[in-house]
Amino acid sequence: MLIYDLDFPALESLLQKWKEPAYRAKQIWQGLYRHLYDSPEQFSNLPNSLRKRLAEEITFTPFTVRTYLDSSDKSTRKTLFQLSDGNLVEAVLMRYGDPADEPPSSLRDTPPKFREFGGSRRGVRRTLCISTQAGCAMGCVFCATGQMGFKRHLTSGEIAAQVMFYARMLKERDEAVTNIVFMGMGEPFHNYENTMAAVDRLNDAQGFNFGARRMTISTVGLVPQIKRFADEKRQVNLAISLHAAEDDERLAIMPVNKRYKIDEVLEACKYYVEKTRRRVTFEWALIHGVNDTPEVALKLAARLKGLLCHVNAIPLNPTTGYEGQAASRQRADLFKQTLEQAGIPCTIRMRRGIDINAGCGQLAGAASEPRV
Ligand code: SF4
Repeated sequence: MLIYDLDFPALESLLQKWKEPAYRAKQIWQGLYRHLYDSPEQFSNLPNSLRKRLAEEITFTPFTVRTYLDSSDKSTRKTLFQLSDGNLVEAVLMRYGDPADEPPSSLRDTPPKFREFGGSRRGVRRTLCISTQAGCAMGCVFCATGQMGFKRHLTSGEIAAQVMFYARMLKERDEAVTNIVFMGMGEPFHNYENTMAAVDRLNDAQGFNFGARRMTISTVGLVPQIKRFADEKRQVNLAISLHAAEDDERLAIMPVNKRYKIDEVLEACKYYVEKTRRRVTFEWALIHGVNDTPEVALKLAARLKGLLCHVNAIPLNPTTGYEGQAASRQRADLFKQTLEQAGIPCTIRMRRGIDINAGCGQLAGAASEPRV
């Protein structure tokens, strides 16, 4: 049993079964999610007998770090985790802000590969992109995860543990995770229950207490789950990977469009906005000559008219299994300008971690050599 798979009531009932006093559950919960302990020995406030039992019967390590890579500008770290059944998943940390000159004293004796990652003090963002599945069943042709196929769903604990891993690493530098995006390997809404359980665990005020508004879930547009998400009214942000304004064009790059047409997805988004009064973000990978023209931008604007939304466009990240090319900066700017003139706000996002295949759509769970 993985400790991170337990929500608080489940932890309470386990300890009750073990005939431990009720307050032990809170001590363990806070140890895990406030102090970021990852082994029973660290729980110095627990009796030896309980620590021993935890060590014998509960797993605290959902994965091992197979390797990690830092981008050449040190802004991005990708970690490859090996799960207990051998499956591989990746999670990426993106840092926005100025690097510190010196590592904190606690890190000075650690290997340079950990120190190099840099960091800074205040007013910076540390955004984590985490995975919800090993592989993915959605088969988007431009995506390395889609190209590898579906392996399995991650448990809620395996999802949350990716965050705890990076939170621990950042704590060493007196830093903290500031944003979490569920945009790594997998389709979060295909693994809805476990993803939401992880969201709720991270959001728990007695534990990690991570603000829902600082989390974003990205989906290819699974209509029933968008509606369910709207009904459940979490404060988590919603992003939809759209990438095309016509059904046949979308179907050519996203097989999910066979099941849910663009109109249906947008209807579900309208429902979401009505229910939550929250804005939807549309993700758009700009592919040269495919979806980066002013004509496409105008079609998209017509589709989105009247919807409380925002378009996040990012030049396509390269993958070996897809021959499409990234839009140029000039074409990206023209796309944005055309959309905005038609009344749809748009941001061109910076590409991150391309040199270590850590950009959107590049996560393949592939073992690669650490750069030391
Ligand atoms: S883009 Fe997302 S949903 Fe599509 S194949 Fe990749 S991981 Fe899956």
